[in-house]
Formats: sequence, structure tokens, C-alpha cells
Amino acid sequence: MKKKKHSFSVFGFLMFVGILCLDVQLFARMEQEAKFAYVIDRDRIYETFRDEQVPLEVSKTLKKDGSKADFSNRLFCYFVTGDTGEDTALQLTKRLERRKNPVQQEFISYIDAVWKDVVYFPVPESEQNDNATVSYSDSWMQSRTYGGKRGHEGCDIMASINERGVYPVVSMTDGIVEQVGWLKLGGWRLGIRSPSGGYFYYAHLYDYAKDFKAGDEIRAGELLGFMGDSGYSDTEGTVGNFPVHLHVGIYINDKDGNEVSVNPYWILRTLDEKKLSYDY
Ligand SMILES: [Zn+2]
Repeated sequence: MKKKKHSFSVFGFLMFVGILCLDVQLFARMEQEAKFAYVIDRDRIYETFRDEQVPLEVSKTLKKDGSKADFSNRLFCYFVTGDTGEDTALQLTKRLERRKNPVQQEFISYIDAVWKDVVYFPVPESEQNDNATVSYSDSWMQSRTYGGKRGHEGCDIMASINERGVYPVVSMTDGIVEQVGWLKLGGWRLGIRSPSGGYFYYAHLYDYAKDFKAGDEIRAGELLGFMGDSGYSDTEGTVGNFPVHLHVGIYINDKDGNEVSVNPYWILRTLDEKKLSYDY
């Protein structure tokens, strides 16, 4: 009887150890789960994607070979977690892929549209004049009043030499000319649709490099025209209503068919070191 009790308690002990091991495993698993139990809040991600600045430590991997987590996934991960690390991006990506997360799929296509085709900063460096420089800051959604109260949907690249027709403007991407000609707000403008679906809008031009037509194919780095101060008028050709600058707008078409502008500042900042040089 005593012996039997003894063997029972060995069995019990083994059971206890077994359950303990399972618990430890389960606990580790739960901890792991909790670490990645981020809330995929579509509306919040949408706002972040449109408005927030991507840290340079993330955006610098834009075209870097050898990055394990591809850029779109890593950026999506940053929007979800606020974590810029590649390892977190890889783990979150794996988890989301297993569940085929529709929000992730949606945003990967938006992110691809705005960054995948960008190659060059839109204003080349001057080969002749060290004083001919440009500057820009994050002016996203700053108040503008011409044509009604509105937020600034783009980024203005200002010219140190306030003279129209001096600075060349090149295409940031390959693409197809979608819009060309006069706009009340944008003056002489060009709108180019890139292969991944982004719409790149260049406004206030002084003139065009050639007689562009809708449907023309454009190569990244191709001369589009020259920086100017056209616009803010119903009258075609009006200039001088503001200092010479290039307004860059970047738009996507969202899943509901809306054209949505995205803050171009971080993309321009990332392209800062991708400037062509030009004889001016
Ligand atoms: Zn502007």
C-alpha cells in the first residue's frame, strides 16, 4: 500500500513537472504574442501614412540592397508599432502574412505607390553656381488662403535665387504624363503617373522642356521644365504672385477611389543625396 502510494506520488511529481513545463512554454508563447499584439487600426494607420514623417533611419533603407525586411513592409510596421527596427518588422510581417491581413495589403500598395519608383530629387544641383541652392521644410497642411481656406498639400522647394526659369526641374520617377497645362492654383504644371500608381505633381513651372502631351512616356531624371512662380490666377501665364519655387505633390488613389495627397517631405529628404547635376 505504501509502495503504491509512493509510485503514485512519483507519477504525480512527473505530472507536476510536465504541467509546469507546458505552463512555462505557454507563458513564453503568451509573452511573445503580447509583444506583437499590436492593434491594426486602419484609420490611425491611414492618418500616420498621410501626415507623419518617416524617420531617416527607416527611409534611408529605401533603396539599400541587403535589407531583409523590404521597405514597404518595414514602413508599414513602423506605422503600426512605431518601432523602426528591422527585426520587429520581419516578425510582424510574418505574423500578419499568416493571417493575410487586408489592411497590410492595402497599405503596402499605397506605400509602393509613393516610394517604389522615386529615383531623383526633382531639382538638380548647379554645376556653375554654388550660390544657386534650394531649401525646403515640412509645410504639410500649413494654412493657405488663395482659392479658399485650405491646407498645403505638398512640399515647396524654394530657390535661393528668386529668378524664374533658372532652376531645372526633373522627374523624380519613370511614368506617363497624365496632366499638363494651366491650373488656377498650380500655374503651369505637370502630373506624372508612376508605374506603381503614384501621381507626382510639379507646379508653378516657368516653362516646359518640351511640348508635353498626356500619354507621353517619362524617364526618371528627364528634364520637365524650369522652376518658376506661375499660378494663383484664372489667367493663363500669370506670374509673380509668390517667390519662385517648385511645389511637389504626391497622391495615391485609395481603395475607395479617392485621390489622396501624402506628405512628400520625408521622400524628398531621403532623395536629398540623389541629386543630378545640371549646367546652370
Ligand atoms: Zn506649395
